[in-house]
Amino acid sequence: MEGIEVCTQCGIPTYITAEHTWHSSGFILQNRDTRHILIFIESDNLETLLKGVEDIVGVSIERIVINTRRRAARAYMDRVIPDILKEQVRDGKLEVGKVIQGMLGIGYVLGYGKFEVVDWRVKGDDDDYILLNIENPYSITLGTVDPVAAFEAVMGREMGYSYQEVSPGVYQIRAFPSRHPEEFKGRLTMRKYAYSEGNIEYQRCNSCGAPTLLGEFSWDLDNGLIHSRETGRRMVFFAPSVLEAVFDELERELGETIPEVVIESQKRLTREGMYSLDLKDPEEGLRKQLALRGLGNLASLSVGERGMTMLMENATIHLMLVGLAQGLFEHAYGVESKASWEIVEEKGLKVEVFPA
Ligand SMILES: [Zn+2]
Repeated sequence: MEGIEVCTQCGIPTYITAEHTWHSSGFILQNRDTRHILIFIESDNLETLLKGVEDIVGVSIERIVINTRRRAARAYMDRVIPDILKEQVRDGKLEVGKVIQGMLGIGYVLGYGKFEVVDWRVKGDDDDYILLNIENPYSITLGTVDPVAAFEAVMGREMGYSYQEVSPGVYQIRAFPSRHPEEFKGRLTMRKYAYSEGNIEYQRCNSCGAPTLLGEFSWDLDNGLIHSRETGRRMVFFAPSVLEAVFDELERELGETIPEVVIESQKRLTREGMYSLDLKDPEEGLRKQLALRGLGNLASLSVGERGMTMLMENATIHLMLVGLAQGLFEHAYGVESKASWEIVEEKGLKVEVFPA
């Protein structure tokens, strides 16, 4: 997409560093409201984690995922879109299609694929709609709901949507006024994150302040794609509060085995080789990779054939991190394992893994 600014020195889109801070706590803070954080993660991890949970529980979780994502994405866009712009669209002084197209530039930068607004009608009644295409969404379920949330934020009203694949990898989305399901009103609460200062230091770009480690990733701004130069995997920025709200809601609906299910799902995909430990320097390597992804501050790690103990300060998504630790151990030593974990007051998340 034309018009996306990048840092002339490091090449990272300026939106990334203007809006977010890789903080010493191991979190990626949203500068507009630092109680909100993002993770920067392999899109396969998101998709496979949720699919894995669905397979294990044996019922569709799409309804919960969509409603949670829509709510979080709308809140995010609401913070980002200036009120004056919303007013001008609602008053008919600005064309909604052009404003949405501009806002979807954020999606390109966050790795969500390529968006194109095709058509729209806005007169303030129930026949309003917007029609847009998305090419290569990072997830069909999550990626098709994001632009709907942007439309909601601009118009200030609830929208429904439908989509269909119009050519391979291209989905056409139609969003229109519609009330959200009543069942979720007052639920799917997005957690806010507290954190303590950590000791993570980043080497940063002199010009924009982006961690130089982000040089490990390449942004394709014509297509809205981010890839790891090392593994080739696709990366996206995502709100951990969405995953946590989904897990909470699943636990409410399906019972207290859900934490185990989430851990198991993350363990399996990690063990299959999505991530691995560098056994020559496991602690430093893992600390760097976790912080870069905004997953928290690895305070200590001891690992050997007989087990692994991991202490995380400011752990972003506990269940995912427990599964990750277990999967890393199993991948490194080629064994089955069992894990226990606890939240240690003042310190954070402690995970212990042993061969089973
Ligand atoms: Zn820079």
